[in-house]
Amino acid sequence: MDPSIRATAGFRKRGAISRLSDLVWPPRSLLSEAIVDRPGVIEPALWGELHFLAEPLCAQCGFPLPDDPDHGAVCGACAGRAPAFDTARAALAYDDHARRLVLDLKRGGRRDGLPVFARWMAAAGQEALAKADFLAPAPMHWTRLAVRSFNQAAWLTQTLAKSVGKSWRPGALTRTKRRRSQEGLSASERRRNVGGAIKASARFEGKIVVVIDDVFTTGATLEACARALRKAGAAEVHGLTLARVVRPTDIVR
Ligand SMILES: [Zn+2]
Repeated sequence: MDPSIRATAGFRKRGAISRLSDLVWPPRSLLSEAIVDRPGVIEPALWGELHFLAEPLCAQCGFPLPDDPDHGAVCGACAGRAPAFDTARAALAYDDHARRLVLDLKRGGRRDGLPVFARWMAAAGQEALAKADFLAPAPMHWTRLAVRSFNQAAWLTQTLAKSVGKSWRPGALTRTKRRRSQEGLSASERRRNVGGAIKASARFEGKIVVVIDDVFTTGATLEACARALRKAGAAEVHGLTLARVVRPTDIVR
């Protein structure tokens, strides 16, 4: 072989190996460039800055409430317009840290955080998960899936289902029409955009379903999933996400 070709091949091979090793070794924190002792962890200083959502929360959509002495109170939005889903819960408030975790997962395809995300989500959604018949990922249209090659909601669903010992149905919901991205749309625009675009792939008579997604923004996607599942006979539909927007200014980008 021509030495220059061999040299180039060797260089390419070394390049590929070093790029690969940069990704997996040394393990980096999920929230910074800090080197950590194993993949999928966060250094203590930033761990303390994560905003986990905890009671008191709106009994229906999971929005944080200032207080809830009687338990079971709902927020103003749910009181004014009851959502189609039974409950929605999220592990984290969507802030700068949660945004980084979500974008690394969704755009970067970074998977080392999945086990820890599943643990947080299992805690946040324990009531719904305990009674669930199965978990279903919020669907992505196949053309978007073809471009991105993965659905981060399916990754979360698979990891969570395994960790809580439940079954999951990757194709329970399908997106029948490709709509424009929800990013930057208002609540009513999101409802219009996603409405009618999600269908159940089978009858789910009497089933209790937990729909999994990365972020609850206005609830429009979960609403559409819940309507589709109810139409297919589901008895209860719950939503569980890694993060939830709690301030109108935290628009998902
Ligand atoms: Zn609410």
